[in-house]
Amino acid sequence: MLNTKAKKVLDALAHSDFPYRQLIEMMPVALLVLADDEAIFVNAAACALLEADTSDELLGLPVTAFVHPLEREIVEERMRHLRAGVSRNPAMDLKIITRRGQLRRVSSSSMRVVVGETPLIVVIATDDTKRHESEDRLKENEENFQRLFESTQDVYYKTDANGVVVKVAPAVRRVLGYEPEEIVGRRAEDYYPHPSERDALKAALKAHGHVQDFEGRMVRRDGVIIDISISSYVLYSPEGEFLGVEGIYRDVSDRKNLERELRRLATTDMLTGIANRRAFLERATESLRHAGRYGKSLVLFIADLDHFKSINDRYGHLAGDAVLRRFVEAVSPELRETDLFGRLGGEEFGILLHEVRRQEAEHVAERLGECARSLRFVGEDGDEYGVTVSIGATERHHDDRGIERLLVRADMALYAAKEAGRDRTRWSPF
Ligand code: GH3
Ligand code: MG
Ligand code: MG
Repeated sequence: MLNTKAKKVLDALAHSDFPYRQLIEMMPVALLVLADDEAIFVNAAACALLEADTSDELLGLPVTAFVHPLEREIVEERMRHLRAGVSRNPAMDLKIITRRGQLRRVSSSSMRVVVGETPLIVVIATDDTKRHESEDRLKENEENFQRLFESTQDVYYKTDANGVVVKVAPAVRRVLGYEPEEIVGRRAEDYYPHPSERDALKAALKAHGHVQDFEGRMVRRDGVIIDISISSYVLYSPEGEFLGVEGIYRDVSDRKNLERELRRLATTDMLTGIANRRAFLERATESLRHAGRYGKSLVLFIADLDHFKSINDRYGHLAGDAVLRRFVEAVSPELRETDLFGRLGGEEFGILLHEVRRQEAEHVAERLGECARSLRFVGEDGDEYGVTVSIGATERHHDDRGIERLLVRADMALYAAKEAGRDRTRWSPF
């Protein structure tokens, strides 16, 4: 109810030159006035909203001309309400189509006014397209995320600031064999072979804020340890407070096993199963560097089977192969876990002993000689035969920079052992 003072002001305004029209033109809200369901007035904001060049384009049209076909019925219903005497339709979200065919989302309300004898309908609308678009995008993002979350082969997970899992994707069933509900609420590190195995990941996340294809291991429900690759990032609140970690991991056991197998094939001598020449020299180089840095002793043997050619010649190549395998089988247990044993080629082997005194090394060489001598073979003709080995030995010198130096000295010592009658060890004199 207007008080008398307000009534007086309004009366005065009605009879003054108050520029209502300019005011309405200036309003940022679109306004349409309809008489007999035809637009008789539109303001500038309405022209802009409906993409009309001039108001003439819009005048004379019914309100439904601007409404999306699917929403025409509801708008007509609202118009009927007004004509039937309802004074006002509350605001509703509506889809409209501009004169240029663009879809827009508006919030619109309408009211009935009577001027003189003429009933008019006033419609106002504000453009909400941008808000709807960002809401739609958000919704779409959420739907996309949900779809990914449900279907991806990778396991999406999220932990809180204490490392407790708050969300995990259904893919965890296939990867770890647990139901997602069994994992939510427990610590992520519980699924590592040892909690400390997550420390490397934590440290990397702490240092960089994220990790990409970080490799680790996890334990499946059945106890099998699997290789995983994990990509994650740290979550912070807008205030910079640590909230937890979010990321994905996948089972890469197949790939890792293949890599391991390829590495094994690349570093193993196929006949005997010990290190091949390249792997032996690589490891020996590393050992030499380490021994040099810490002033540790190192002994290299080159062991070469004696008259091996004649075994091949007499009993065949396969028999020769068997001798090589049996020799390796016999020697391996005589060496320490830390010693290196590799096939340098043909019937020639490298043996690197770590941190041994010369006297100990001499005993090892003796035992290797005995190993060879103790092997017995039977040829196809029923002949029994054996094999002997000659060994060239050398110790690390303080100025040895590369493994080649030791190889050359051991080789010269080997030559001396052969010259001296084989089946014996000779030490490099320098
Ligand atoms: P020495 O006592 O002087 O060492 O004489 P050797 O006969 O052992 O040495 P030589 O270098 O003359 O011959 C080595 C032979 O080893 C020649 C080669 O055919 C044979 N050989 C090399 N690799 C293999 C292999 O993988 N299998 C077999 N069966 N024989 C091989
Ligand atoms: Mg030989
Ligand atoms: Mg040889």
